Amino acid sequence: MPHLAYVNGRFVPHDRAAVHIEDRGFQFADGVYEVVTILGGRTVDEDGHLDRLDRSLSELEISKPMERSALKLLMHELVRRNRLEEGILYIQVTRGVAPRDFRFPRGVHATLVMTTRRQNHSVVPAAETGVRVVTVPEIRWARRDIKSVGLLAQVLAKQAAAKVGAFEAWMVDDDGFVTEGASSNAWIVTKDGVLVTRQADHSILKGITGNAIAALAEEINLRIERRPFTPAEAYEAREAFLTSATTFCLPIVEIDGHSIANGHPGGIATQLRAGYLDYARKRQSAPFKWRY
Ligand code: PMP
Repeated sequence: MPHLAYVNGRFVPHDRAAVHIEDRGFQFADGVYEVVTILGGRTVDEDGHLDRLDRSLSELEISKPMERSALKLLMHELVRRNRLEEGILYIQVTRGVAPRDFRFPRGVHATLVMTTRRQNHSVVPAAETGVRVVTVPEIRWARRDIKSVGLLAQVLAKQAAAKVGAFEAWMVDDDGFVTEGASSNAWIVTKDGVLVTRQADHSILKGITGNAIAALAEEINLRIERRPFTPAEAYEAREAFLTSATTFCLPIVEIDGHSIANGHPGGIATQLRAGYLDYARKRQSAPFKWRY
């Protein structure tokens, strides 16, 4: 059985899956996406991701490719056909194929592409050791709340991190505050044990994972402050961590060469990671609601 992708109504071998050169995703990055965790062959926080997909689409006035119930069936079918136990499901929707013109075309159907990738979520060495982060200037557009496929700034940020052997880049805005990671949300824990993460407005993407992590933190009576923080505050933090659907919750042990939590994964980050794994595996019958 070849590895399959889903493209506009068909399951096709992944190595032959293609969209047209006039697809607006290719021409203008005129599209949005979602990345959904697969654990035990099942999706994690599926409705949260589809709520955010709907929001991204409606902010850009891109029509939905299909109803949610139909989309869910196709998601599950791709996971099933690819025999995916642990990994990620990638969903991309673009405005569709039309002759190149900046203005919205009329009467086109949205393009829908889905792919899967194996990834071991159970054994993650980075969770044991913690990861390193560097800061880079924030050069993205002003609507980072939309999960746009326009990811060039994040490509550059991740490459800058990779060049110095760091796992993630935290982007710093013109006022000197961290916005978020190139593909994750950014968190610190103050000396008083308060969790700090930036408020969800147009300056960041409101994470589905971070939303669940916040709910889990509240269940164990941790206090959360939603406000910007500077790299200097992060260097002094008791702990730091990042959240995303592909990494869950990863402890950070170094930021710009400053050691965090004495260079070892912090207790709160480790506890939240374990709590999240339990939630992802066992509590999907009552997932936390994602709200913008
Ligand atoms: N911010 C950015 C810029 C991201 O790319 C991601 C990952 N998609 C996140 C935050 C985390 O979002 P989620 O927890 O929904 O994966």
